[in-house]
Amino acid sequence: MASGSKKQRLMYNEKEWISSIMSLCTCDVLAQITLTPMKILNCNATAKGRTPFTRAFCDTEYYPDQDAFVFGDVFQSGINVLVDYFCKDIQPNNQQYSIVLEKLLDFMNGDRSIHLNEQRRQKLTETELAIMVANHFWGKLATSSSYLVDKNCTRKNGDKCFCEDESCKMTGQYGDTSVGNVDVWYGNLDIIINNDLPVEPLEDVPDSPGEKSAVEIQGSTALEGNEQIIAQTIVFSFLQRKTHPEQKNFLTPCIGIRSSELLVMMYDSENDVLLESSCIPLFRDAYELNYTAILVSWLTVNNKFLCTGLPEGLKKHRSNFFDLAKPKMEVYEENLSFGSVCDTPNAIMPKGKFKTKNARFTLSMHEHTRTMIDMLGKLQEEEDSEYLLVE
Ligand SMILES: [Zn+2]
Repeated sequence: MASGSKKQRLMYNEKEWISSIMSLCTCDVLAQITLTPMKILNCNATAKGRTPFTRAFCDTEYYPDQDAFVFGDVFQSGINVLVDYFCKDIQPNNQQYSIVLEKLLDFMNGDRSIHLNEQRRQKLTETELAIMVANHFWGKLATSSSYLVDKNCTRKNGDKCFCEDESCKMTGQYGDTSVGNVDVWYGNLDIIINNDLPVEPLEDVPDSPGEKSAVEIQGSTALEGNEQIIAQTIVFSFLQRKTHPEQKNFLTPCIGIRSSELLVMMYDSENDVLLESSCIPLFRDAYELNYTAILVSWLTVNNKFLCTGLPEGLKKHRSNFFDLAKPKMEVYEENLSFGSVCDTPNAIMPKGKFKTKNARFTLSMHEHTRTMIDMLGKLQEEEDSEYLLVE
């Protein structure tokens, strides 16, 4: 039987995998991964004097839950590739999609766990954990395995990864990750994947101060509504718009990571829309990567190919940044740069907010969900009949 032989080749649990794809499309509030638009009430994006990301202030609130969309709706090309391949056995119709799909398949059929024990994990800072995740995970899912780590942000480990495998080498480099302009928000990004995706690890509050430096301990940090991540995402989106005006859309992501969870913040510097994803656990058992985190990361690191920009229904949910930053809009639009901006130490600005769910979704996500529900039904039937045969 064809499906039997296909199954033998799979190195992952197919039912769980399809359910994870479905979580990016479904209207089921208990399962869905959402993108919630945010409104900025007040911020220091145009403050006099220097305002590095570490001192970014950004008071925000979420739009009502019925204004949220499912995650897949801004990555419609990516979801099409996934549903076509995994549910309908259809290969991608262009070379770029084939290349990025190949990355995902190689990853799913390879070693998806990080060699790490709990004791060693405890000693790592969030930044070191993020570098390790970049090395094992984001670098492998992206079209280029190289990534850039802020030269100031952590104790360096030579060209070695932070995991326990002594032979594991870093595919990234340390260097100048500064972006922005000293007249507005600026500073060093912690990690940049594939030249176009910033990653911001937020240091946890340790039980005892231990080895962590003072700048890393500034109270409890939450990924949600995080001011530093918002400021970095906005600056990076304007920078992308200036450096790659040929892009079809300027919805630019930034990954935030803390306590083994990740979140994707996105800003569209053309339509002034700010979106925040649900928080997603990085790992399933021990240090094996969670399927949903793999999918969200694959879409995000390959956003250049897979992101389709804002669906119409999201365009009206403006963040109000254009109005708040008006006095210095020219700097944001014309005068941001990458590299040699100004070195600043990394610190954190905590703020947690409650976020509701009940996201909207476009018709195409609805169709994808139906396809996957059918497929899950079939997989369940197969499983049941196999079970009966064994009995
Ligand atoms: Zn490693």
